[in-house]
Amino acid sequence: MTEKSKRFPLSLSSIAEKTPRNGARAEPQRKVATPQTATLNASQHSKRTVTTTRTVEVPRKAAAAPVATERATPLVSESVRKAMTARVAKQGVKDSKVLAAMDAVPRHLFMEPALASQAYIDASLPIGYHQTISQPYIVARMIEVMRNNQQGGVLNRVLEIGTGCGYQAAVLSLVAKEVYSIERIKGLHELAKANLRPMRVANIRLHYGDGMLGLPQAAPFDGIILAAAGLEVPQALLEQMTIGGRLVAPVGERHQVLQLIERVSKFEWKSSTLEDCHFVPLRPGTVT
Ligand code: SAH
Repeated sequence: MTEKSKRFPLSLSSIAEKTPRNGARAEPQRKVATPQTATLNASQHSKRTVTTTRTVEVPRKAAAAPVATERATPLVSESVRKAMTARVAKQGVKDSKVLAAMDAVPRHLFMEPALASQAYIDASLPIGYHQTISQPYIVARMIEVMRNNQQGGVLNRVLEIGTGCGYQAAVLSLVAKEVYSIERIKGLHELAKANLRPMRVANIRLHYGDGMLGLPQAAPFDGIILAAAGLEVPQALLEQMTIGGRLVAPVGERHQVLQLIERVSKFEWKSSTLEDCHFVPLRPGTVT
């Protein structure tokens, strides 16, 4: 890293080669894993498109900057990440701003070191607490759909339900002015904070609470993304959309579909079904 690039705040990608928590180097390699349902959908997508919360701000200053000697293999993970983005584009995601954001966020730093080598494969992967980091394609796809609004993709304030490890929030931070993200499992909320802290992302606010209630104190939102599937989209979230706002959510139990809901007026919402998907369940309440 050059002296110049050490200046703060660091960009997300500038710390991409940080040594992971256990000291082992996160050097992504290609490994075989079982792709999830969504992978299959992704390959078919191009053919089938149809029409009491506690606030915690991610500290801006935290861990020391990465040491140059720990960055021996920057090009390796950068090229693997570029390959991931190219694959996502081939799967049907066209929005160049979304693809650039996927290129910039060091996905392997959101995983346990033991899984970091698989970070860029086409699958969701475990993050603990029986939850998963979403498959790259579906992360990109949901954000692309949310951005496809009447304002030419401008998003002032967005809300994510299900922070998990914080990866999607980091991608969102590159396409929206302000990102709010809620997680119901305390341990994951803490994990996301720990993952995002060294990246010094100034425009993400993490909340621990039940996302089914939304975040009335920060509403309305231009975009809302649910990273967990409910039987229906909670009414509170519909109420917290701006007019013209877009909400993207997996809906269903065993068979899930990606749903887009647009708020047309104060009392009118329009819903459309996009494609099949597979997410962990949306659950009420919190886990301490
Ligand atoms: N976007 C995440 C994906 C996390 S998986 C990432 O990039 O890693 C979905 C997450 O939704 C899980 O962590 C789960 O605990 C959380 N979740 C489920 N129901 C929720 C609710 N009602 N409120 C907030 N989070 C919820």
